[in-house]
Amino acid sequence: MDPSVNPGEDFFEYANAGWLRRNPIPPSESAWGIGKVVREELYTNLRKINEQAVTSVSPAGSEQRKIGDFWLTAIDMAKADQLGVRPLQAELERINAAKNAQGVLDVSFALQPLGVDTLFSFSVSQDEKNSEVMSVHLSQGGLGLPERDFYFNPEQGVAHIREEYVAHIARTLKLLGREDTAAKTAATNIMSFETALAKASRKLEDLRDPVRNYNKMTSAELTKKNTPAISWADRLDAWKLHPDYVIVGQPEFFRALDNLLTATPVPVLQDYLRFHLVSDYSQYLSKEFDDEHFTFYARVLSGQHEQRSRWKRVLDSQDAAMGMIVGRIFVQQYFPATAKKRYSDLVEAIRTAYHERINHLDWMSEATRAKAQQKLKAITAKVGYPDKWKDYSALIVGTNSYCQNMMNASRWHFNDMISKFGKPVDRTEWDMTPQTYNAYYKAENNEIVLPAAAFAIPGMADAGIDDAVVYGYAGASTIGHEITHGFDDEGRQFDAAGNLKEWWTEEDATKFTKRAEVMIKQFDAYQPLPGIHINGHASLGENIADHGGVLLGLDAFKKTGQFKKGEKIAGLTPLQRFFLGYALSWLHQEQEARLRRGLLSDVHAPAKWRVIGPLANIPEFYEAFGVKTNQPMWRPADLHVRIW
Ligand SMILES: [Zn+2]
Repeated sequence: MDPSVNPGEDFFEYANAGWLRRNPIPPSESAWGIGKVVREELYTNLRKINEQAVTSVSPAGSEQRKIGDFWLTAIDMAKADQLGVRPLQAELERINAAKNAQGVLDVSFALQPLGVDTLFSFSVSQDEKNSEVMSVHLSQGGLGLPERDFYFNPEQGVAHIREEYVAHIARTLKLLGREDTAAKTAATNIMSFETALAKASRKLEDLRDPVRNYNKMTSAELTKKNTPAISWADRLDAWKLHPDYVIVGQPEFFRALDNLLTATPVPVLQDYLRFHLVSDYSQYLSKEFDDEHFTFYARVLSGQHEQRSRWKRVLDSQDAAMGMIVGRIFVQQYFPATAKKRYSDLVEAIRTAYHERINHLDWMSEATRAKAQQKLKAITAKVGYPDKWKDYSALIVGTNSYCQNMMNASRWHFNDMISKFGKPVDRTEWDMTPQTYNAYYKAENNEIVLPAAAFAIPGMADAGIDDAVVYGYAGASTIGHEITHGFDDEGRQFDAAGNLKEWWTEEDATKFTKRAEVMIKQFDAYQPLPGIHINGHASLGENIADHGGVLLGLDAFKKTGQFKKGEKIAGLTPLQRFFLGYALSWLHQEQEARLRRGLLSDVHAPAKWRVIGPLANIPEFYEAFGVKTNQPMWRPADLHVRIW
């Protein structure tokens, strides 16, 4: 804390600035805060699991052997340097062989199983309107900058990023042997091509409308109406997919893509494919590729000064490649049954609080209220780790190269994804590993998923944390936040069974939208960087979830013995400690470049505004800290957001 700051002036600073000042951002990071410190603890524990796997004598193909081989191969920088770009040779030759637009498409489709998204995005996932069925989804994609707005935003920092991006593409092509002038020309052409793709792409806020981004058609229709150059039926047949229909996110994007494919010279498209392939795998190649990737994606885009330790980056890629294998061991060692019980109970306390809140809403009709209660009751809570672990026996982990292991893992994940087509939906699956400091709500399953690592407070054993902090930290910002996602502007459009289906009366839906508009205005007015304000539309769902989460955590906390007793700890009342516990979850600071990147591409508001924004709408917060009308944290009562 920084007690010299008045909480009514800036609660984020009051709660967090003491630590933030004592713990500046290390040069090898673009941000620093509680999530990063938790991650450092996780790295230490995960490294032990890897080193134990190396020393254990395990048969080929066993999970222990996969962990050990992955680790040893990946940390071997000398081996990666010796191999250079060779692990990608077969794919690069495939690109060289493309003779026309169809040849380019052959490559683009061949790169999908490697996780290299070029031209568009493809997935097999639940049909939003029939969540019992796995279906083929096609959507806009193929950009090398994080989001559409990076190609057009006139702010000078973003304009600088565009220049640096072109220079980075040119240097990457030079590493592949291109001569200087030719590389620069090629880079400019790639940028023009991507800019055209970006122009045809929907904005971040427009991607949050699930109805507009659901366009069901047969693959033949998609070909006939939008993409005469792409025969989707044949392309999908190559993956043994014969869907009755596909769900197209943005049909106009595919129309534009088709035009671009025929209008762009083949050598430009080949360079585009080369750059994306190499860019996606740079971190697993020799130092020159790794450094070049770092220069743009970490230094320029995020403001990070130095590369992070290789072993930590290896653990990150291991998490993506085979995190569940490691996660099974991790939870046995680091997530006791008592913690699982504490947080499962907390989920139910939050659910009860929400039930009561919905009952007391003065703006909702009985018809909508009954359906909302039904949906709340039906939410599945997954706490800690999966009940059923996936079978990774088909994943091949060798000792040839780090890059090859990452390619194998991508293929494994791709095959696993397409194998789900035509089968009943497996609702036991997790989209995050247990050792992830994060959580999510998934509308199609009407579920909240809370990984074991999400509850950690660095340096504290779980049993040593008092209820006020737990209800603010885990109760409000994690559990309450995720549950509220089921009822934010997007989540509320899905019903109890996870189907995109209107269950609100028209009048209630209008009332909800009006109340949400208050929040859009509140966040639009914040300007974390001169010239760039928070995107109130794009961040609406997250802001509703933050606000709802605090209200639910608070309701639940008011029922605890600790709150009722009202005893102070360290001079702070239970209510004050609850709000400090909430602010603790956003103890975070970041470089200006990273802040800019987030404002343009992240649907979450920056950490500081996730604290001051929601709390400025909560009367108990005013009461706890004596916020006065002339202070910045104060908002007039008629401007308070009142949704849940
Ligand atoms: Zn969220």
